[in-house]
Amino acid sequence: MTTPPGVPRIMVPDPAGPSYAKHLAQYGPLPPTRPEALLSEVGAAGLRGRGGGWFPTATKMSAVREEGGRFLNRPFVIANAMEGEPVIITDAWLMQNTPHLLLDGLELAVAMVGAKDAVVAVHEGSPQATSLAEAMAQRPATETVPGLVELPGHYVASEESALARAVAGAPGRPVHGVRPHRHGVDGRPTLVNNAETLAQLALIARFGAAWFRSVGAADAPGTVLVTVGGAVAAPGEYEVPVGVPVRQIIELAGGLTHEVTSALTGGFGGTWAPLSDILDQPWAPDPIRAVGADIGAGLLWLHRVDTCAVSEMARMAAYLAGESAGQCGVCVFGLSTIADDFRQLADVGVAGPSTERLDSVLAAVPRRGGCSLPDGAVRMLESGMRVFARDVAAHEAGGCAEPEPGHLPVPEPNPYPVIMPGKAFR
Ligand code: SF4
Repeated sequence: MTTPPGVPRIMVPDPAGPSYAKHLAQYGPLPPTRPEALLSEVGAAGLRGRGGGWFPTATKMSAVREEGGRFLNRPFVIANAMEGEPVIITDAWLMQNTPHLLLDGLELAVAMVGAKDAVVAVHEGSPQATSLAEAMAQRPATETVPGLVELPGHYVASEESALARAVAGAPGRPVHGVRPHRHGVDGRPTLVNNAETLAQLALIARFGAAWFRSVGAADAPGTVLVTVGGAVAAPGEYEVPVGVPVRQIIELAGGLTHEVTSALTGGFGGTWAPLSDILDQPWAPDPIRAVGADIGAGLLWLHRVDTCAVSEMARMAAYLAGESAGQCGVCVFGLSTIADDFRQLADVGVAGPSTERLDSVLAAVPRRGGCSLPDGAVRMLESGMRVFARDVAAHEAGGCAEPEPGHLPVPEPNPYPVIMPGKAFR
């Protein structure tokens, strides 16, 4: 077996479509799994979860393994391919093009935590579910045969406790304070790894920690998949070493097509940042956070300066308010109040609500919900109000600096409880 040279490591699809035989020819077979040795190799590789939290994967797996051993309760493994973030296409790309890397990683994770059952969770109606099912059917039998579950694809459906509940057949809502590594599917210790993390795991098992660390940042080694969109010539999915300058990612995506002064980073729960602040910064979790941006689930969206950022944020606020799981007052009422204020602010020709009121509502929401949806929404909107202060001021006065609407493909929002204009949320 030869190690893949350089980068990309994961994004090497066969144009004729994925097949197990081609996958083996590309990467070689998985070596026999010795769970403890592989756990320590993954720890040495420094693999961190690629779903947004960047938590050390070996630590998470060890916790599930220990819980299973302590209570003689065989763990459950969920491969999270739900693609909860709009715009991001990473899970879809993996399922469509390199499903066997994902499935290798799932097979390894099952062995590493001593699991009895495993599933790949995809959102209902996902066009990639068929290619994943075909890939599953091509693989040799294993002791634990993973299932494929299709679940309602809400924004919070990827949250680990929500996902564990949904896989068990309950409504997929986050459960505050419940840690799936202890109490997951049917009360069993449950490992939830996202699709890209599992694909990276499959490479570490074959080529080892030193190879994995040969690219990337010292504290976040390896490569990472990024969805690049907006004002670039070739929007799409790219694989880069963690820590490459943002400028290089934009060049990979064909360069800018319009004037851009700001970018949405991470996802809908990420942050807006001035492009000049991030352009020469490494795309790595800690350095990018240090300049007020976010890698999150891997979105880099270049916002055209000649489009209306306020209407963009209003559409995002409405979408996020409609994604509330409806169980925390701060989320149900807080986000819908914010969405209504943004909707009024976005209206041109009428003076919008004062940003003073909006600021106070935004400040009242964080750290009071059962999951991170409201905090992420507030983080994104507050950063947008800072970055687009000129546009916000123009809307407050009833005008608009850039009347062309934004191009971010925001999904249609679910209806949310409408708060009467002017009603303050506390
Ligand atoms: S904060 Fe919102 S989405 Fe999260 S658990 Fe509460 S109601 Fe559900």
